[in-house]
Amino acid sequence: MRHLAIIGSGPSGYYTAEAAQKAFGDDIRVDVFDRLPVPYGLIRSGVAPDHQSIKGVSRRYEKVALSENVRFVGNVTIGSDISVDELAGLYDALVFATGAPHDRELGIPGAELGNVFGSARFVGWYNGHPEFARLAPDLTGSTAVVIGMGNVALDVARILSKTREEFADSDIVNHALDQLASAGIERIVLLGRRGPHQIMMTPKELGELGELARAAPVVDPADLPPEGDDAMLEPGLRKSVTLLRQFAAAGETAREGKPIAIEFAFFAQPHALIGTDNVEAIEVERTVIERGRAVGTGEIERLPADLVVSCIGYRSSPIPGLPFDERAGRFANDEGRMLPGIYCVGWARRGPTGTIGTNRPDGYGIVEKIGEDLADGTLGNGGKQGRAGFDALARSKGLDLVTFRDWKKIEQAEEQAARAGAPREKFVDLAAMMQALGDDREP
Ligand code: NAP
Repeated sequence: MRHLAIIGSGPSGYYTAEAAQKAFGDDIRVDVFDRLPVPYGLIRSGVAPDHQSIKGVSRRYEKVALSENVRFVGNVTIGSDISVDELAGLYDALVFATGAPHDRELGIPGAELGNVFGSARFVGWYNGHPEFARLAPDLTGSTAVVIGMGNVALDVARILSKTREEFADSDIVNHALDQLASAGIERIVLLGRRGPHQIMMTPKELGELGELARAAPVVDPADLPPEGDDAMLEPGLRKSVTLLRQFAAAGETAREGKPIAIEFAFFAQPHALIGTDNVEAIEVERTVIERGRAVGTGEIERLPADLVVSCIGYRSSPIPGLPFDERAGRFANDEGRMLPGIYCVGWARRGPTGTIGTNRPDGYGIVEKIGEDLADGTLGNGGKQGRAGFDALARSKGLDLVTFRDWKKIEQAEEQAARAGAPREKFVDLAAMMQALGDDREP
C-alpha cells in the first residue's frame, strides 16, 4: 500500500486525487488536506457567486472525496500545525495544491491607502472567505477603479454592478449583498495598461457585461485598432475584441436607463494612488504598445477613485521546507517536481493562469510523474504509516480535524440558511463552521 498526501482541496487537489485513484486503484490511500474546515478552495471562495454552473464541478470532486480510498482532512495547516518533514515521514508522496491565495502587489505610492484592495481580499469578502469576510469596503463613493483587464477584473466589475434581483440564485454572502444593494457606485473604470488587442478577458465573461440590468459597458471607438488587424488574433481573443467593437458601436443607446457606466480605459498604467486616509484619486501614466509591451509616455492623468480593486494576479504562499521562486510567486519546481517525493500542481506549480478545467491535465500529469518516481525507486520501498500515523500525530498535537462527514453537516446547515432561491448562505467564520458540527463527531 502506498500513501499520498494532497495539500489543498481545490480543483488541482481533487483532480490529482481522481487521477491517483484511476492510476493506482486499491494500491493507494489518498488524504486530501485543507487549512479550512470546508473543501473546494477556489470553487467555494474564488469563482464568482453568480457563476453557479462553474461551481457545479464540486459534485465531481465530491464523488472522489466519498470513495473508499480517499479522505478529506480539514482544519489543519501543513507548514505550521504539521511540518512538511513530519508529513513526508508518513506519506510516500506529497503533492502541494495550495493555489495562489495572495495578491500580487501593485507596488505604487499610495497602495496602502484605505479602500484599496487586491482581488484576493475583495473576492474573498463577497465570497465569505473567513479571512476576508470582515473587510467592509466602503461602497458609498461614486467611482470605482478596477485595475487589470482579465476575467477577475470582469468578475469584480460585474459584482459591483448587479442588482439584488440579479443575485437571486447566487451564493453571494448576505453581508456583501446588503452592502452592494446600498452602494453609490455610478462609474466603474476598468484600467488596462495595454490595448484592446491585449485584454485577457474571455468572450463568455466579457459578453455578460452587455446583459446587466443597471450597468452598460462603455468603449471609446478611438481606442480600437483597425478592424482588419483582428484577423491575426487567436479565435477567443478575436471574439472578445468583436464584443468590444459592439460595445463601442452601441454607444450611448446601450446606456439608456442604466445608471452605472463600466468604462474601458486602455493604454493607462497605474502610477500613484492619492488620498489622505482613504483613496480619492488614481494617477495613471498613458502608454504606447511596443512589441506587445506597455511603455510609459510620461504623460500623467488623474482620475477620481473612491474604491480601488487591483485584479493583477496572485502569488502562492511559501511553506517552510519547500523551495520558493520569489520572483514568479510560486513554488520552484521542475514540471511539478520540487524535492524527491514532493510535488506541486495547479496554480502552486504554474502560477495563476487558465480555467478550472486546466487543472485536470495538471493533476493527471503529476500523478504520471509520481508513477515514474515509484517505478524508478525515487519514492523508496513503501512501509510508510500513512493516515494511521497522521492520525496519531494529530492526536498528540491536539488538532481538531474535520472529516468529509463533518463538512456535509456544515453544507447542510448552509443550505438550510439560504435565502429563497439561493443555493446556500455560507458561514463566514471558522468558529461558526465548527459549531455547526455539533457533538456527534466521528472519533
Ligand atoms: P490575468 O488574466 O492574468 O489578468 C491580469 C490583468 O492584470 C492583465 O490585464 C494584466 O495586464 C494586468 N496587470 C498585471 N500586472 C499589472 C500592473 N502592475 N499594472 C496594471 N495592470 C497589470 O489574471 P486574473 O484576471 O487574475 O485571472 C487569473 C486566471 O483565472 C486567468 O487565467 C483567468 O482567465 C482565470 N479566471 C477565469 C474565470 C472564468 O473563466 N470565469 C474567472 C476568473 C478568473 P498585462 O496583460 O498587460 O500584464
